[in-house]
Amino acid sequence: MTEQNLFEMVKKHLCSCATDLVMDRNVEAVLKMPRREIHASIPVRMDDGKIRAFQGFRVQYNDALGPTKGGIRFHPEETIDTIRGLASLMTWKCSLHRLPLGGAKGGVVCNPKELSVHELERLSRAYVQVMFPYLGPDRDIPAPDVYTNPTVMAWMMDEYSKIAGKTTFGSFTGKPIGLGGSEGRLDATARGGWYVVREAARDIGMSISGAGVAVQGFGNVGSHAALIGQEVFGARVVAVSDSHGGIYNPEGFPVRELVAHKTATGSLQHFPGATHITNEELIELPVDILVPAALEDVIGSRNAPQVRAGIVAEFANGPVDNDADEILFERGIAVLPDFLTNGGGVIVSYFEMVQNFNMDQWDEAKVHRKLEKKMTDAYREVHDLAVQNNVPLRKAAYSIAVARVVEAMRMRGWV
Ligand code: GLU
Repeated sequence: MTEQNLFEMVKKHLCSCATDLVMDRNVEAVLKMPRREIHASIPVRMDDGKIRAFQGFRVQYNDALGPTKGGIRFHPEETIDTIRGLASLMTWKCSLHRLPLGGAKGGVVCNPKELSVHELERLSRAYVQVMFPYLGPDRDIPAPDVYTNPTVMAWMMDEYSKIAGKTTFGSFTGKPIGLGGSEGRLDATARGGWYVVREAARDIGMSISGAGVAVQGFGNVGSHAALIGQEVFGARVVAVSDSHGGIYNPEGFPVRELVAHKTATGSLQHFPGATHITNEELIELPVDILVPAALEDVIGSRNAPQVRAGIVAEFANGPVDNDADEILFERGIAVLPDFLTNGGGVIVSYFEMVQNFNMDQWDEAKVHRKLEKKMTDAYREVHDLAVQNNVPLRKAAYSIAVARVVEAMRMRGWV
């Protein structure tokens, strides 16, 4: 995070919920603090034979609704406050989508692009070795996030199982399909996000078919957001970007070819018919739908006045900061909040756990059907409250999610 600290941003939203829900000061204090934090030094033997110590975290924010759940990020600029903010967001995400889970997040300060595959495997396994006592299907269940993927989850689940002395598929989600993973998990965040965009577009009278879309980020979420947007919803994907920069073509890109180009060349640049743009320019393009699908804090007061989209759909966690939120609301731009819009990943993670516990495997159609229902139900609930109280969708989403967690804490006798 550069401009605004994500944890501070989330706490600010909680304060406004506290006033609205007439929340006790003690309850508010509990909600603004993680229940448990693990800070670890993780020594890993590198390929050159030397030991390097990485810094790792796991923040278990709140487990009133169930075992905590959330991704693990491998990122060179990871900070404990970003992880706290993200763990807090996971709490509200699981609650809003009515999952029997609390919220957590983990991270390792590292640059996976500079690690060999063997170093990455040793780091992944070492993370589990140090965190083992705090993990497990009924404690805390990690999943992929920024720069982690099904392969990393396979290593981690295997390491967990070895230490536990029994194969424990339910200890990690987002695993490969041949190893207890669920159909539909890989593109679940993007697909779920599009269900929310579809509903929101309908409410404001926008047609998604043919709509111009700009997607920032071309990792798992961004690339699937572009693909599904075009192939399932008929949108025109006019701009995409990755950490090196973006490309723009007002006619729209053939996204499958773009994915192949990125796989073959490692970059989006030099795609036929593309004008090169920066990540900052992408935010200000004349599009109907803007999809920030990479990292946090990309729309702030510096560029919110220049946003020209009718819908900003937060497929990433925390891309729009609090000041930008207000500016966009005043300008009549619908911001679809992260913990509503990108809940598809953890929803299908939950489906994966249910399948693991029952030694079952669902087909893709069943996963999609159940995901669509969960996403649209949550959107409707948030939308209806937002309209009723004339507040932004984010505020309505917080009110619903926080009230449920507070109620669970009351019933458990914590407050
Ligand atoms: N990392 C994803 C998120 O931020 C998924 C978490 C999960 O599946 O547990 O929602």
